[in-house]
Amino acid sequence: MNNKPLYVTQPSLPPLEDLQPYLEMIWNNKILTNGGPLHQEFETRLAEYLGVEHVSLFTNCTVALITALQALRVSGEVITTPYSFVATAHSLLWNGLQPVFVDIDPDTFNLDPERIEAAITPQTTAIMPVHCYGNPCDVDRIQKIADVHGLKVIYDAAHAFGVKRNGESILRHGDLSVLSFHATKVFNTFEGGAIVSPDAKTKRRIDFLKNFGFADEVTVVAPGINGKMDELHAAIGLLQLNHVDEAIRKRRDIDMSYRVRFTGLPGIECLDVPKNVEWNYSYFPIRVKPGYRLSRDELYNELKKQGVFSRRYFFPLISDMSMYRGLPSAAMANLPAATMAANEILCLPIFPDMTEADIERVSHVLMNEATTVLE
Ligand SMILES: *Cc1c(COP(=O)(O)O)cnc(C)c1O
Repeated sequence: MNNKPLYVTQPSLPPLEDLQPYLEMIWNNKILTNGGPLHQEFETRLAEYLGVEHVSLFTNCTVALITALQALRVSGEVITTPYSFVATAHSLLWNGLQPVFVDIDPDTFNLDPERIEAAITPQTTAIMPVHCYGNPCDVDRIQKIADVHGLKVIYDAAHAFGVKRNGESILRHGDLSVLSFHATKVFNTFEGGAIVSPDAKTKRRIDFLKNFGFADEVTVVAPGINGKMDELHAAIGLLQLNHVDEAIRKRRDIDMSYRVRFTGLPGIECLDVPKNVEWNYSYFPIRVKPGYRLSRDELYNELKKQGVFSRRYFFPLISDMSMYRGLPSAAMANLPAATMAANEILCLPIFPDMTEADIERVSHVLMNEATTVLE
């Protein structure tokens, strides 16, 4: 039996020899950062690939989220989801903003539009939803609420690279969308991120903000940060773009393979593939329900014993962390669907180079089948 560790993801890398010409380019022209030629080319090609107008590259998604909130001058309270990676809410605290947690829709794991309005106060200025697992939020209803109440909408789109709804990029919604290119994501530049803006004026302000607020050599227009992506990471991004379609196709096949195996397995539920959506298959979350032979954590531990490292994305909830749990909106009674999701969900390994044998190995543990029987 194969006992090499199987992690929830394994980052995709471009062929090493493809990097050499880019390294030579950087070494020859000696432009290492500050919006060099590769940075510019990557922004252009990324906008083309994603089907959006304006992209600003960043050193990572967290700094991009923090900058997005600055760019829109968000203040006071921001409505957000407790069911996400901590960076979503952390970006609010780094801006001195008060997160207001609203429960998720139990079927989509996304902010429940039904519950947003009840959480709006005179201090509310924005909504920060997450397209959880790349599953698009109810962008139309969220926009309607934002319009009625005069709120900004910033999407944490860290999971939503390449996701389309009705043939159109999901990143074209809200005031801004923020992407992550971290090593664990569908599309990676090792570390990296980007903000998608709807117009050139907003992109310009964001580009000032990510470069200390410099508008030109002598004019600083805002207390900006250093969030720039350098030429080496831009080169990696350009190379990764050549392979991302194939990577997503391979992920789709793995997703399908899992689903076929788990059909009819009592107590295990797969996520519905969202309708009218070109998905990116970034995660393979399952719900471990009471009808299953093990609890979620027992399954997590049994997988781990066999060298399969699944992840409880997202557990614990952000609202249960020490810096958030004192907030009135963090009370468990306010967040029943998120609490249930955090206790039931398990993300299984999925990555483009995963083999049929890897999939079988994971499935055997879930199905409680002895591998020897099948060999
Ligand atoms: C990964 C992730 C982030 C943070 O991205 P970095 O690029 O690592 O800063 C933010 N939000 C969500 C939902 C994420 O999954």
